[in-house]
Amino acid sequence: MAEAYRAGTVAVIGRPNVGKSTLVNALVGARISIVSHKAQTTRHRLLGIATFPAGQLLLVDTPGIHRAEKRAINRSMNRAARGALDGVDAAVLVVEAGRWTDDDDLARAALDGAGVPTVLVVNKIDKIKEKSALLPYIAEHAPGDAFRAVHPLSALKGKGLEPLVRDLLALLPESEPHYAEDEITDRSQRFLAGELVREQLMLRLGEEVPYSAAVAVDRFEEDGAMFRIAATIWVEREGQKAIVVGKAGESIKQIGRASRENMERLFGRKVFLELWCKVREGWADDAAALRLFGYE
Ligand code: GDP
Ligand code: MG
Repeated sequence: MAEAYRAGTVAVIGRPNVGKSTLVNALVGARISIVSHKAQTTRHRLLGIATFPAGQLLLVDTPGIHRAEKRAINRSMNRAARGALDGVDAAVLVVEAGRWTDDDDLARAALDGAGVPTVLVVNKIDKIKEKSALLPYIAEHAPGDAFRAVHPLSALKGKGLEPLVRDLLALLPESEPHYAEDEITDRSQRFLAGELVREQLMLRLGEEVPYSAAVAVDRFEEDGAMFRIAATIWVEREGQKAIVVGKAGESIKQIGRASRENMERLFGRKVFLELWCKVREGWADDAAALRLFGYE
């Protein structure tokens, strides 16, 4: 008898630099995890969809946890973090082999009491020469039944992923896949094009661009071997547009160039990108606009 198909959401948690994005990429099998995002109305941001014969992992981010202030390990913080974990089926706490910091404690504290079954991933084991040194590390940080499973692995080398996938799928409910295979590729390429522009906005303008900035992909067409993509950066005020566009259009030109290069790397083909910045007052309050930007 065939095993039941399972599908559900898995929160990926851990301090910066432990290898969360690398792990998501390794699971998804393509570079579709994007580091930054601004406008966001859904509680969980989809990092990647990993589809296997036995099930589908929807790997999500938990915003409340990543924005945690160091000193904020208090009751209200924990409540907020738990809120961010609401509705996920399982979680992966990613840590680095041989290293455990205060921030790892913080990530772990966010999970405490959330009632989400969690698997500990001890990443970067390729950096540890003496593998037996991992045992005391694991015993100290993952005592008893603190985690459903502990997986030492190397996300970078793609080593040790199969048993992790098996254990994660086992924590998910029986379900049809949430996304069909072809739907993933179609939707995600267009979606990812927008994310790559948003990423550049964040990296280059950071705090100067408000949370209300959004990117809409107006056109995504195949033209022979290349993609023709047109996108609009929507802002709320003329002053914000001035920042995005920059002196003599220099800023938006750089955003466009870097976004295009990343798209070409991601899609493996040439991209022609048209990028605009437009003002739409109060779009954040406008239901039609939210639909347009896919934030419903
Ligand atoms: P994130 O901030 O948690 O998303 O971490 P990233 O996925 O961006 O990885 C941070 C750094 O660690 C990058 O330079 C990765 O190449 C590196 N890294 C991730 N996984 C591994 C691993 O398994 N082994 C080694 N040696 N490096 C890794
Ligand atoms: Mg990352």
